[in-house]
Amino acid sequence: CNLERKQNIIETNITKDKIIEAAEAIKEGKLVAFPTETVYGLGANALDPEAVAKIFIEKERPSFDPLIVHISNINDIELLTTSKDPRIYKIAEKFWPGPLTIVLPKSSRVPNIVTSGLNTVGIRMPNNPIALSLISTSGKPIAAPSANKFGKISPTKADHVIKQLKGVDYVLDGGSTDIGIESTVITLKEDGFVILREGYITADNLLEVLPQSKHKKDSMHLESPGLLKSHYSPDKPIFIESELSSEQIDNLSNTKKNKKAFISFSGRSPEGYGKIEFLSKNSDLKEAASNLFSILHKLEEDLAINVIVTEEVPENGIGIAIMDRLRKASYRYKK
Ligand code: AMP
Ligand code: MG
Repeated sequence: CNLERKQNIIETNITKDKIIEAAEAIKEGKLVAFPTETVYGLGANALDPEAVAKIFIEKERPSFDPLIVHISNINDIELLTTSKDPRIYKIAEKFWPGPLTIVLPKSSRVPNIVTSGLNTVGIRMPNNPIALSLISTSGKPIAAPSANKFGKISPTKADHVIKQLKGVDYVLDGGSTDIGIESTVITLKEDGFVILREGYITADNLLEVLPQSKHKKDSMHLESPGLLKSHYSPDKPIFIESELSSEQIDNLSNTKKNKKAFISFSGRSPEGYGKIEFLSKNSDLKEAASNLFSILHKLEEDLAINVIVTEEVPENGIGIAIMDRLRKASYRYKK
């Protein structure tokens, strides 16, 4: 029984005063949801284990899934990692602030709860003025996963946060996020980088600064335990069109037209769907990334719709990250 749910304080007109209030909340060990350029984050003081515990409770996130720590100043890296690897600064200079998380050996200052007991910590500097100002004003590194219930659709608007999370102390509404898909997560090996999670920054982008390692990502080895097969799932079945089985095609043909939604990337509008949503009007992958989660939220909220079929997008550039999200969103509905 949870009769005394906290009332979210939602700030839409974000002045310096509001940032100061939210930064105070961070310093007091409270939860603040804030926009980044990727998705909305659910933040707490990364150096305060009790505050970080609230993130796991509010998200219903399993304790084995580590959090990314957000900083606003490159010098804060030294607080969080023991590594003196000069490649860190080369990468940071090129991609920060921006959607790239670097996993590094953690310093003793980083509480174990942040890293799920791993001896590494994921660090990034987000490219959003509200996020940067919140971090610098609080004077704390901010641990922040996406501001959604574990396994559900990531938020790209403040409304998406409020829909899922009722126990956030402060929500900073900065409108729709630009990129709309989570950061790329990498780790460094002696021979180069390994991508642990696909995101906006692609392997080709990274190759401009350092080589790709021969090592392969090994999620069984718990290098990135958050990389589960099922994630980002709406509360109703979603299928990738090209992967439909003949049984699923039969079931779909027996479903009323107005209960079915289609997500289009190429601009195709197939017959037989009551609703068509366009990831992009002209096959633009960046536009598709920024629309993806908000279309999934919209169709999840649409009570008329029972089932969603999505077109594939080409797996190049950010298309790789989009297909990663679509496969995970549809995984639990697969036969
Ligand atoms: P989220 O912030 O919800 O998008 O999830 C953060 C993800 O970053 C986790 O699920 C992991 O996959 C990855 N990550 C964060 N910290 C680490 C770490 N220390 N080692 C490996 N992967 C990490
Ligand atoms: Mg997430």
